[in-house]
Amino acid sequence: MKKLIDKLEQNNSLSFDEYTALIRGFTPDLSEYLFEKARRIRHLFYGHDVYIRGLIEFTNYCKNDCLYCGIRRSNPNAQRYRLSEKEILDCCALGYKSGFRTFVLQGGEDTYFTDDRIVSIVSSIKKAYPDCAVTLSIGEKSRESYKKFYDAGADRYLLRHETANAIHYSKLHPSDLTLQNRIRCLYDLKEIGYQAGCGFMVGSPYQTAENLAEDILFIKKFQPHMVGIGPFIAQHDTPFRDMHNGTLELTLFMLGLIRLTLPEVLLPSTTALGTIHPKGRELGILAGANVVMPNLSPLSVRKKYLLYDNKICTGEEAAECRNCLEMRMKSIGYETVVSRGDHVLLTANQSY
Ligand code: SAM
Repeated sequence: MKKLIDKLEQNNSLSFDEYTALIRGFTPDLSEYLFEKARRIRHLFYGHDVYIRGLIEFTNYCKNDCLYCGIRRSNPNAQRYRLSEKEILDCCALGYKSGFRTFVLQGGEDTYFTDDRIVSIVSSIKKAYPDCAVTLSIGEKSRESYKKFYDAGADRYLLRHETANAIHYSKLHPSDLTLQNRIRCLYDLKEIGYQAGCGFMVGSPYQTAENLAEDILFIKKFQPHMVGIGPFIAQHDTPFRDMHNGTLELTLFMLGLIRLTLPEVLLPSTTALGTIHPKGRELGILAGANVVMPNLSPLSVRKKYLLYDNKICTGEEAAECRNCLEMRMKSIGYETVVSRGDHVLLTANQSY
């Protein structure tokens, strides 16, 4: 199996069968072997820098009914909230002072936030903080809408593809949501000029090793600038309440494989990883990740954006979250940096 990791390091790709064999048969020893190589390649492009993104969860209203998600529309127990434009700008002001140069606006698919409202929010942030990047993560929209947000100044867009297998996709989502449309969105985003991010949950219900291999092959083909992955964690008010959570070990292994497959990619060590293990985010960085996303949402709404159970960082102020992550990164020899943290190839080309 180590030979396969060597081959991946050399070629930055493997066949479907080879990825599947690695995912099915990984061991702690093989993981360590992979992580060492993943770190080496990450150090080559990004040194020991860890990019930080300020996450603003600005609405938990959602018109969708994804079976895994705690803010799905048919969860009557979700306490719904939405932030005003002023509240969002207040989060940015606080974040800017703490050294954030990227703001990620994430939310459910909330019809209150029309294109005009999103355009207004993005333009206001870019006007107040022209040296910052704005990332949107607000789901599936038309190409026209994506273009309007881009023209208003949005730089990046995160839209996890969730799974690259259409049958698996249909087991995680109601029939009005299709993999085909999700992929259409991702290609539209990239063509428009966004730095685009896809990704998936590790250990989502019904997922197989083959599905994960398909995810990597899709990522290889799509060539995103970012890949967001984290373990699936059951939420008690969803149809998947009794399903098993994804494991730390497999999530870390997938991070390592993604780093070797797309050496320059921006790869977050996610809050979900920190939720399933107290040192999850540190271990994610040590497996090849290079981004963390501390929460900038107001404390009053933190406990309401509950995609999954036991989510961490719902009780601390933004500055505390930032300091806590800084200490955690220092403890493993890495440094959080005050920077937009663009993809290394874009930075080299000065193309933004
Ligand atoms: N509505 C936007 C979208 O669909 O892309 C952004 C918000 S959505 C809640 C963000 C991500 O949360 C999803 O892409 C999904 O992968 C993740 N997520 C939702 N429920 C989860 C769960 N139970 N465990 C882990 N991740 C979850």
